[in-house]
Amino acid sequence: MTLVGGIEAGGTKFVVGIGTAEEGSRVTAKFPTTSPDETIAAALAFFRQHAATLPVSAIGIAGFGPLDLDPASPSYGHILATPKAGWPHVDLRGRIAEGAGVPVGIETDVNAAALAEAAAAGGLSDLAYVTVGTGVGIGLVVNGHPVHGAGHPEMGHVLPRRHPAQQGFDGICPFHGDCLEGLASGPAIKAAWGASLDELGPDHPARDAIADYIAQLCHTLFLAVAPKRIVLGGGVMTGGVLLPAIRARTARLLAGYLADSDVDAMNRRILAPACTEPSGLIGAYLIAQRAR
Ligand code: ZN
Repeated sequence: MTLVGGIEAGGTKFVVGIGTAEEGSRVTAKFPTTSPDETIAAALAFFRQHAATLPVSAIGIAGFGPLDLDPASPSYGHILATPKAGWPHVDLRGRIAEGAGVPVGIETDVNAAALAEAAAAGGLSDLAYVTVGTGVGIGLVVNGHPVHGAGHPEMGHVLPRRHPAQQGFDGICPFHGDCLEGLASGPAIKAAWGASLDELGPDHPARDAIADYIAQLCHTLFLAVAPKRIVLGGGVMTGGVLLPAIRARTARLLAGYLADSDVDAMNRRILAPACTEPSGLIGAYLIAQRAR
């Protein structure tokens, strides 16, 4: 099988690999995200180092955003107004393509993870990937394609109905205050209760509040984009302790309005990630295979 390259370009680290989406990685490496010059050079050096034995026919980038994903735009593949110093307006896709001399595709990290989870589920056409960690990100695959239009979806900033345990907490999103990310991300949980969910323990009302917010997101996703499956990943979801509460709450919110939306259905349709490898890297291989 023809090998491709993958770059999971994160705000704190880059993971690079050579392999295929079907068989996984043959070789990987990771390094911290420093300046664009240094970090892009390190990624290109990795592919050069393995070019004799593991040549790649294309490279896929699963990047932190916001990204310009419109192929007709003059700044296609550029990073947009990120708060990460030095990185706004970097032509990430163009510089990798120029340095590596192969076709290069690019997607958001969460869309790449959604592609990887859809493939892992046997090629599901419609899937939402949700990560709840430092931020809240949602990747969408609809009709087999990652979703972007005027920009890419930013559903981490939808406005949930406030949980009773959080009256008086303003939320921490610098743009919206009490949007989903402002209430349910890891830093929001710390700001509201002074500790992580793990540290607060199973009986703390924070668990009910966070499960409620994520269930509201699942409710919105099922109604807005009709995913066959929602995959919940990220640091706040680790261990899946919130999954049963989220499934039950989502079924209650949907209230039988949609077909196949009772608790049994939610047990099948709201799941922990299936990818054993970092889904961003598998997603990057899928993006490379599409670019080729
Ligand atoms: Zn927000």
